[in-house]
Amino acid sequence: MPSTTPRYGAPGERVQDTLVSDAPLLAGYSWPYTTIVGHQEGPQMTIIAGIHGCEYVSIHAAMRLAAELDPAEVHGRVLIVPVVNLPAYWERTPFVCPIDGKNPNRFFPGDPGGTFTDVLADFIFTTCIAPSGAFIDLHGGDMVEALTPFAIVAADAAPEVVARSRGLAEAFGLSYTVNSRPAPGQIGGMTFAAAASVGVPGLIAEAGGIGQLTMQDVDLLVNGTRRAMHAAGNLHGAAAVPGTRYLEEFNWFYTTNEGFWIADVRAGDDIQVGQQVGRVLSLTGEVLETLIAPAAGAVLFLTTSAAVKAQGLLLGLGLWPTADKEA
Ligand SMILES: [Zn+2]
Repeated sequence: MPSTTPRYGAPGERVQDTLVSDAPLLAGYSWPYTTIVGHQEGPQMTIIAGIHGCEYVSIHAAMRLAAELDPAEVHGRVLIVPVVNLPAYWERTPFVCPIDGKNPNRFFPGDPGGTFTDVLADFIFTTCIAPSGAFIDLHGGDMVEALTPFAIVAADAAPEVVARSRGLAEAFGLSYTVNSRPAPGQIGGMTFAAAASVGVPGLIAEAGGIGQLTMQDVDLLVNGTRRAMHAAGNLHGAAAVPGTRYLEEFNWFYTTNEGFWIADVRAGDDIQVGQQVGRVLSLTGEVLETLIAPAAGAVLFLTTSAAVKAQGLLLGLGLWPTADKEA
């Protein structure tokens, strides 16, 4: 029976049902979820996906975890919500919610008095994220986005939360992890940052992209999540900790002009300072902009669509730590 908060069964039970909200703006939507309660004591782990509705790798990874996690192996409780941004999923809308055009991953912890996306973020945050002991938000590249697998943690949270989030990221074991500490005025409102601000350690994990359901990327997210669950104490015993390479903050490239975008690099490439990463041409072929890396780093994601509007996002470079930043 649908409920306004997730329902948990007795120890050893898996419950699959739907969440509904009392908020008038969310009327008519119901969010499928799975809860698993182990026989052993342990923390509450919340796993969500589909904050971006066309990131199918992450959605399928959450569906697989919901089906494959055995209540007999789970310690504590697990909650899995495979598609948060249901309007975007059904309408195949990349990045944003089609109802109000907002990117949900900029509006956490949400606002019950805002538009659809604000209210949705508030609903998911209060019912699923804030009550958890650890939190994993699965993503992948959206319809026009290629990426190399990476994680993001909040590096500006309380030290204990940062340490535990990094422990999850190192167990998850994606190639790169960005230490996110947005300055005022920069991009905020991301899920893991809102979680960290209320003391919940967590991360975003990204794999797959450009609207493809690539099963090796699904495996990457499923296996990484399982290792993170060992680290969090939700699965018995110790698992391998593959580790990760830390990057200091993002350098996101935007185009000034509308035009035709050509990337000169690929996701996962190592970039030197001063290297050209791409160009924006006019539709008559004139070079309008040349994008140059301001520091050395790794290309974490890039826009694969050649068509770009003015101020459009082109590419995300993760910058290596510099000596003085480490000091
Ligand atoms: Zn995403």
